[in-house]
Amino acid sequence: MELNEPADLFLKPKRDAAVQRRHPWVFSGAIGRVDDGGEPPKKGQLVAVRSARGEFLAWGHYSPDSQIRARLFSWDENARPDTRSFWQQRMARALDLRQQLLASPTTTACRVIYAESDGIPGLIVDRYADTLVAQFLTAGADARRAFFGELLWNEMQQRLPEIGPPVTLFERSDADVRDREDLPERTGLLRGEAPPERIEIREHGLAFHVDVRSGHKTGFYLDQRDNRRRLYEVVAQRAALGQKPEVLNVFAYTGGFGVYALAAGARAVTHVDTSADVLSAARENHRINGQDLGQVEAVTGDAFHVLRAFRQAGRRFDLIVLDPPKFAFTQRDVKSAARGYKDINMQALHLLEPGGLLFTYSCSGAISDDLFQKIVFGAALDVGRDIQIIGRMTQASDHPVLLTFPESAYLKGLICRAMD
Ligand code: SAH
Repeated sequence: MELNEPADLFLKPKRDAAVQRRHPWVFSGAIGRVDDGGEPPKKGQLVAVRSARGEFLAWGHYSPDSQIRARLFSWDENARPDTRSFWQQRMARALDLRQQLLASPTTTACRVIYAESDGIPGLIVDRYADTLVAQFLTAGADARRAFFGELLWNEMQQRLPEIGPPVTLFERSDADVRDREDLPERTGLLRGEAPPERIEIREHGLAFHVDVRSGHKTGFYLDQRDNRRRLYEVVAQRAALGQKPEVLNVFAYTGGFGVYALAAGARAVTHVDTSADVLSAARENHRINGQDLGQVEAVTGDAFHVLRAFRQAGRRFDLIVLDPPKFAFTQRDVKSAARGYKDINMQALHLLEPGGLLFTYSCSGAISDDLFQKIVFGAALDVGRDIQIIGRMTQASDHPVLLTFPESAYLKGLICRAMD
């Protein structure tokens, strides 16, 4: 069967509720049978999902090797998801949401397509100046990689008024989730010119070097953009009162939060990360913003150990950022992840000056806002500090949360103030 010729996928009796509520995932256990017209559907094939009695429910793409057997993107029987114009419209809709960001001279990097949340399952595209970086994370997206690449390229031609059309489309399909779809890792040029080793982007007017070939994810943690800005404002307020904070940036990556902190008038920044490479990129990012490297300390090591050593050495900080990698990948990891979050938050609270602030995050989708708050509560209680929450943070709006897909809300953060 052709990729865009729909096969019928019938659910088991009484398994349509989630699909009716427009959740975009169909798990293998809900599926009764696949009517393939004699030939098994291909990886990524278009499927019409039907109830056990045969009523049409939704359109999706088939992932035969994944527990998430189909990814749904339309509940309209009359939609034509086999056509170019259908996907063109989806891309245009995604780009419309980012119109202002794409036109901004002071922020030249953002997420332009966010998979299920934009109705294009499995496709993530980030923009770094004139370079686009794509990830094809599901069988459906992977099977359409050249097609999606071409559509995106065409759609983007008019969308960068400040700098003109993109010159590079680079693929970074090296995310672990592809394993679960039985898709191999793949990186390389899809269109245009090979990307330079470092791309310089601007974010709220600050400069950053991004390595799209081997940086984490597609190169930069774009989802934290507004939260870095929030930190800037807080530091600037304190600096204006003559209280230039000393900042500890734990899980620093290429220094994002620290660069904002110094720009806002922090006295000094200490970065902690296990990777020496990202810390040298962090130094470089301070340098290209004209910041004094004498105010920057970078400590290579495991944050869990480094923070304990700091405590023993009697070090204290006015502002601490904790932005750890994902600790919980599935529901099964939640317990051990909660222990990790609690421990690192305890270590940070030990180091916080009276009146100090902790910006603490979790990017684990499986840890709810509520649970995260409880974990921080437990940490504060064990450390014996009185804490107020003075702010809540989430992912930037170019990482929209689809209301029918709560899993797309993954980043949560609290601004905690030590009251003592
Ligand atoms: N705050 C950053 C993004 C952090 S990503 C930004 O705004 O750009 C998480 C970082 O934690 C990665 O750079 C990774 O190298 C680092 N990391 C992972 N485990 C660590 C550990 N145990 N100790 C210290 N750093 C760790």
